[in-house]
Amino acid sequence: MPELPEVETVVSGLRSRLEGRRVRDLVFLSAHLERKQPASALNPVIYRGKTVQKIWRRGKMIIFSFSGGCGLLIHLKMTGQLYLCPPEQPLDKHTHARMTFYGLGSELRFRDVRKFGFYNCLRLPEIMSRVEAELGPEPLELDFPEFQHLLQKHGGKKIKGWLLDQKIIAGIGNIYSDEILFRSGIRPDRPAGRLSLVETRKLYRAMKSVLNKAIELRGSSISDYVDSAGEKGQFQQKHLVYDREGQPCRRCRQAIIERKKIAGRSSFFCPYCQK
Ligand SMILES: [Zn+2]
Repeated sequence: MPELPEVETVVSGLRSRLEGRRVRDLVFLSAHLERKQPASALNPVIYRGKTVQKIWRRGKMIIFSFSGGCGLLIHLKMTGQLYLCPPEQPLDKHTHARMTFYGLGSELRFRDVRKFGFYNCLRLPEIMSRVEAELGPEPLELDFPEFQHLLQKHGGKKIKGWLLDQKIIAGIGNIYSDEILFRSGIRPDRPAGRLSLVETRKLYRAMKSVLNKAIELRGSSISDYVDSAGEKGQFQQKHLVYDREGQPCRRCRQAIIERKKIAGRSSFFCPYCQK
């Protein structure tokens, strides 16, 4: 599933191409997308002639604001892709929406093979209230005292589950939680509220450095992830534990990476480097 760095990469690519553009048309290509719209959803026809004002990321969600107070709330979930391509590129059955613009030789497509993602046409205030109700703070904006406070507040949770809980902190998923914990030297099943001050500092620093480095390398391409231009990311080459079960640890070179189900998700860790 695309996580914060992948979604940030998609958003920054779209922002430079689409902000300030006027929408020619928005068309749903599958009944599935219509069925998934909330009851308060706007008719896609309303978007004709509206200008894209801003595109940004919140957690793993993508938000568009348009003139006239319309918005779009998009979640890529497992296999969603949001990218620009030439209009003549053939459509397949997994492409669920296309948005065209005046004066732009590309169109914006939403493609989702497994259909867990959503693409909701809503008024912006409704998007903002939904997002703020569902998501905790952004990890890259969080200061250290706030981070410590959140660890104590949800201290009974295992640290892996704490990192994954979007209501506590937004944007981190299975890949980056494992990579952050490995680089912090903390086992994923430790209770969040029982980390020492030194461990808390390591975790805080690793969280920021892993996410920033992954954004710099344009995300991790594990399965379907591509950026807004349809290109793969490079951070998968920097993975130290994720999906490396049974292979020797890249740091200590003696222990074997283990896999254990923690907080309902497969977690990869080194039993020697992580305490
Ligand atoms: Zn190790």
